[in-house]
Amino acid sequence: MTGERILLIEDSDELRPFLAGTVLTGAGFDVMSAADGSEGLVLARDLRPDLIVADHQMPSMSGLEVLDALNQEGIAPPFILITSEGSEALAVQALRAGVNDYLIKPFDPDELVEAIKRTLARYWKRQIAEHVPMQLYETNLQLEGRLRELDTLVEIGKRVTGALDLREVLNRVVEAAVSLAKADEGTLLLVDPPTGELYLYASAGGDEGLARQQLRLQVADSLAGQVIQKKKALVITGEQLQKIKTHYFFRSLLYVPLTVKDQAIGVLGVTNRDTGGDFEPHTLQLMRVLADFASIAIDHARLYELSEQERNTLNTILRDTEDVIIVTDEYNCVMFCNPAAGEMFNIEGDSFQGRPLTEVVSHEGVLELFKKEARTGRSRRSEIIVDEGSVVLNAQLTIIEGVGRVAVMQDITYLKEMDRIKSDFVTTVSHDLRSPLTAILGYIELLRRTGPLNESQQQFADRITGSVSSISKLIEELLELGKIEAGFDEDREVVFLAPIIYQAVEAVSHQAQSKQLRIEIDVPEDDVPPLLGHSLRLRQVVANLVENALKYTPEGGWMRISLENNKGLLLLRVTDSGIGIPKKDQPYIFDKFYRTDEAVDNYPGTGLGLSIVKSVVEAHGGRVWVNSQVGIGTTFSVMLPAHNPESGS
Ligand code: ADP
Repeated sequence: MTGERILLIEDSDELRPFLAGTVLTGAGFDVMSAADGSEGLVLARDLRPDLIVADHQMPSMSGLEVLDALNQEGIAPPFILITSEGSEALAVQALRAGVNDYLIKPFDPDELVEAIKRTLARYWKRQIAEHVPMQLYETNLQLEGRLRELDTLVEIGKRVTGALDLREVLNRVVEAAVSLAKADEGTLLLVDPPTGELYLYASAGGDEGLARQQLRLQVADSLAGQVIQKKKALVITGEQLQKIKTHYFFRSLLYVPLTVKDQAIGVLGVTNRDTGGDFEPHTLQLMRVLADFASIAIDHARLYELSEQERNTLNTILRDTEDVIIVTDEYNCVMFCNPAAGEMFNIEGDSFQGRPLTEVVSHEGVLELFKKEARTGRSRRSEIIVDEGSVVLNAQLTIIEGVGRVAVMQDITYLKEMDRIKSDFVTTVSHDLRSPLTAILGYIELLRRTGPLNESQQQFADRITGSVSSISKLIEELLELGKIEAGFDEDREVVFLAPIIYQAVEAVSHQAQSKQLRIEIDVPEDDVPPLLGHSLRLRQVVANLVENALKYTPEGGWMRISLENNKGLLLLRVTDSGIGIPKKDQPYIFDKFYRTDEAVDNYPGTGLGLSIVKSVVEAHGGRVWVNSQVGIGTTFSVMLPAHNPESGS
């Protein structure tokens, strides 16, 4: 099956169907037939056959006349003439008219098929010989054009990634759009975020003045607005002139949106005025690539601007802050020093950049801070004394992965001074208040000795003594609490709780006996690790809890003190069978001066004991809580982290 389309023009009603059907269709051709010359001519024009087989002698129009007509129209395909009389004159005439082959009736049908095949083969050979070089040439030209387009795109791509001047990049994009699209004019409109209006950012081709002035012009261009809204390209080609920007006429237009993170931020457009033609089909593709470049350039420029702003803000903060800041890289070379650091440690200008810290700063305290950090591998805090104590800095060194170490130092000279004044005050007040109280107690004692006192005098003297001892206790506890809260007791040593418990119980044993209280101690012989703490303060915690249990438990009751080690956490429990604490009071009993109504009415106390317990426990990284039921008893639980010699806690 060859499939070529053959037009058979034959007026003989016997021969035509035979040749068309049996012979030619049988040989695999796609056959059309006409009964005379004029019909054949019409079919030849319409169907453009690959080859025509025509009889010569036909009533209205001869085969050669059909060929002449087709030649004149320039659409003659290969032609085979059939004739019943072979004459030399006709043969010459046929050859001149361009007939490719010539058969004389009667002929063998196979001869016709052969002639058709031969003619078609020769024809295609010639066609290829004539046209292929031309087509190759044209394809070559097209490829060269594409290469130039690609060159332009690559060059713009490089600018987008390399250049930071947005104006320059976008001007180049618009120029490239005009040249690649072979357009009259190109524009780049951007959306003004606050108003949503479009303004002309760059243009090329048309109004050169605009391009040169690079003005921000408002553009009332509804077609561009449409592109922004739909985030889709718009192509208009047409016969009629159309109007945009209220005064501008064009014949064809191509607009593509600029999008950043799925937001349309502008429009890249090319237009041809009345003189220009339509755009080539692949122009839309090129424009899309250019629009992508423009979007990337705008996004980069915005990101760059943002990071510049942030960098400037950060620089201003670091420069203007009064805190001393020193940053080193992972090899302990200085990356940054702010002016405060320069002033504090006599570092000149930018001389520090990239130099080892030891060459930049000579202060032992600072070098030690950076060294210590390297040893422990953790952030740490220390006090740095400058100028023989006239300045004290609180330094905090932090490791930042991928950067290095950052030391921030605040001037705490003023706080240190305040601290000293407070300590002096605490000592003075405690001394000055205690002395008169001691004197009162002394005189009461003298009064008793110089006595004899009558019964009510004796009672009054007892009350004075009781009140003085409550005031003394109050002052003592207040001062203690002040010291604890101020963090004066930061010294830590290895402390075992078991001996502290035994001592606290020993201290109250006399009173316990007189109240007939049973005391149980449940402390394992060994297996309870120590903790890292302030021994005196921890004694206070245990003593306060034990004293409370004793105080708030009526005669004949009991108390139990237990200690256990729970996976590195020490759990101390002081339980009593005392009066209990009402539910409503339980959230507040650790507050300063808070006492239950029952305690206020019937038991002496300051309301400070549990505040001290809580402050001390928390300063040791622990927790304290209470479980209690009125009339049944109370349990205070204290949880403290055990000493772990490996981690240092
Ligand atoms: P103080 O005992 O001097 O009043 P605390 O701060 O030690 O002050 O205790 C606060 C309050 O908590 C007490 O006034 C009392 O109401 C209650 N409380 C403390 N311990 C017990 C206890 N073991 N049993 C009953 N109530 C207690």
